[in-house]
Amino acid sequence: MPLINTQYDSIMRGYARRQARSRQELEERLERIHREIPELSALEEQITACQAEKVRAAVSQNRELSAELEERLTQLFEGRAELLAEHGLSLSDLEPVYTCPDCRDTGYIGEEKCHCFLQAEIDLLYHQSHLKEILEKENFHTFSYSWYEGEDREIMRRCVMDARMFIENFDSSFQNLLLLGAVGTGKTFLSNCIAKELMDTCHSVVYLTAFQLFELLSRAAFGSEKQNRSYQQTYPYIFDCDLLIIDDLGTELPNSFTVSQFFLCINERILRKKSTLISSNLDMEALRNIYSERALSRIISCYTIRQLPGSDIRIKKKLKPGRPAS
Ligand SMILES: [Zn+2]
Repeated sequence: MPLINTQYDSIMRGYARRQARSRQELEERLERIHREIPELSALEEQITACQAEKVRAAVSQNRELSAELEERLTQLFEGRAELLAEHGLSLSDLEPVYTCPDCRDTGYIGEEKCHCFLQAEIDLLYHQSHLKEILEKENFHTFSYSWYEGEDREIMRRCVMDARMFIENFDSSFQNLLLLGAVGTGKTFLSNCIAKELMDTCHSVVYLTAFQLFELLSRAAFGSEKQNRSYQQTYPYIFDCDLLIIDDLGTELPNSFTVSQFFLCINERILRKKSTLISSNLDMEALRNIYSERALSRIISCYTIRQLPGSDIRIKKKLKPGRPAS
């Protein structure tokens, strides 16, 4: 279902803000660079003059002069690159920095919506704009093994290695991941690490707690007409996004509706070869008892299952807040 006008406008306003930000950042950077390298301005004026002269030579079909100017221009470009290099800079320092270089923060590549537009739609429809802030804090760079001791640390290293493999092979092989572990053992953190890496590499990610997922599905099925409309908008992404993360499966109140919807959801994504990452603090036995034998058999045959070690890190962090990251 297409976006309604206000949603589309809101996304486009986001792009306009990004463009304004990168323009301002570029202006400030260029000002700084020109202050640091006063010779650069004169050199750039020569380049502009030479380019204008070359256009005039081309219009008047003066081939000899054109070739001469071409050579002169090459020298000037080389001179500029050398000058920048002397100051530890490169040509890219004179260019704008885009959040999405693929569409230069316009949201479109030609007539087509860019992959970042798709993620912007998902962020808007699932109210997950806050996710990016969380992912800035919870990612592989901030991940620390120091909360795990002895054998737990080794088990965690293997889990992280599997998470990295999941990311590395994401485009080449269809895979799903089930992370099991007690409360506070780092399941959500590891899910966030994976979400960040995949979002950074242009994949669409929908992140929902199990509670949110079932709430959304049940509102759609039993809600008002208006809620049904918003469901029709969000529904396709649950099945079509590159990665669906269902966090904390088992914390919702299970009933026959959630059980059937859970099967529908994971089965449909398997059929479409779309990856799913589930985290739960239940064990396999409990999952089987709640979500049925057939759901579990789909998981066992199509998911990599990892048990995270250790006890509640959040409690450890509270007890030792100054512990260094590693
Ligand atoms: Zn883009």
